[in-house]
Amino acid sequence: MPEDRTAVVDDSSRMLEKALRDLSMQYYSLDRCHQCGICTEACPHTNLRKAERFSPRVFIQKARLGLIDLAGGELWRCTTCGSCLQVCPYEVPLVDIIVSLRNLVFEQGAGYVPPSFKAVLASLAASGNPWREDPDKRADWFEELAPQGESRPEAPEILLFAGCFPSYDRRGRSIARAAVQILREAGIGFDILGNEEKCCGDSALKIGDMKTFERLRKANLEAFSGRHAERIYTLAPHCSHVMKTRYAFGRDNGTAAKPFLLLLHELVVEGRLPLGEVKRARAVFHDPCYLGKYEGITEEPREILARIPGLETAEMAHHGKRSLCCGAGGGGFWLDTLKGERLAEIRLDEAVEAGADLLVTACPYCLAMFEASRASDNRWAGLEILDIGELVLRSLSDKPGM
Ligand code: SF4
Ligand code: SF4
Repeated sequence: MPEDRTAVVDDSSRMLEKALRDLSMQYYSLDRCHQCGICTEACPHTNLRKAERFSPRVFIQKARLGLIDLAGGELWRCTTCGSCLQVCPYEVPLVDIIVSLRNLVFEQGAGYVPPSFKAVLASLAASGNPWREDPDKRADWFEELAPQGESRPEAPEILLFAGCFPSYDRRGRSIARAAVQILREAGIGFDILGNEEKCCGDSALKIGDMKTFERLRKANLEAFSGRHAERIYTLAPHCSHVMKTRYAFGRDNGTAAKPFLLLLHELVVEGRLPLGEVKRARAVFHDPCYLGKYEGITEEPREILARIPGLETAEMAHHGKRSLCCGAGGGGFWLDTLKGERLAEIRLDEAVEAGADLLVTACPYCLAMFEASRASDNRWAGLEILDIGELVLRSLSDKPGM
């Protein structure tokens, strides 16, 4: 046994001890789990009304015993929403563990990978977007909005990273168009990466395809470095989060990317957007996981809603950092989940239970999941679903007809 150290150690030896402890804690992260089950209580899958539900506690125990069935679908059910990370008393890094296992399965071909993931990843590698869309058409939505003969600024104050869904999807483009109209209304000099933009790579990363993620990361960093923008904003919180944590922006790239919601909040509280009265509605805000849980941004969207005249606000049973996932994260957007087993349905039910007729969110992927589920059942037909930028645009007093 080592001798006890009775002398007060200096700061550097304490830091060294701490670094060694952190390292061994990380290495033995599975052993840190005490099987208390608090994570399963917080996991959105627990709220599904079906007999066989995914449980993070059980998953960890199986991983510890080497009992995960890699030929089955269990490994792919986690949406990386982060609810478990919020509550685990022992800080078990469940999402990192799952992503590492997926990486192993994906790169070693050591188990089942959902076929829809393979198609998406092949498209991301070949076209820089998940739907094999023409990369040269990525910025068509923006070109259609640009006044004839308008020149693009060389060093824009702000660079808007639209992301794949707002660039290519008809419903998604409405979110991108709203952001552009808001920036014009506020008189902000901005630009987009245009056809140089590629998928941010978040889905590739969370599915475990590191090579594709790396390729996308490098392409976007190269495109950013040519633009010298002061600030970068992304329409999807997934994009800003993956850029902040995995892109390693150099000094030339200016500041790391942030969610567009923060800029919207800034413009609203500074009174730079003349908000007008909207049709009376009772609104609830769905906190996207990569905005609320991962970035702690929960007050700002509510402050925006509170400033829109005519809007009454309420809260869903789960909200803020305890919000429940829509099901899109971690590749969930690409899984064909049966009706009655979709996480988005839980949120639509909670919105209706809160007496809302308007469900507002700030992530294009949440919006798409909600729209798809709503279309599958009449019980949500009375619920309108909007991105917060679309709602702000509707409220701008000098935009009749919006
Ligand atoms: S909350 Fe943490 S310690 Fe408890 S079962 Fe879940 S992972 Fe294990
Ligand atoms: S990240 Fe979300 S979906 Fe995955 S285990 Fe944790 S709570 Fe469940």
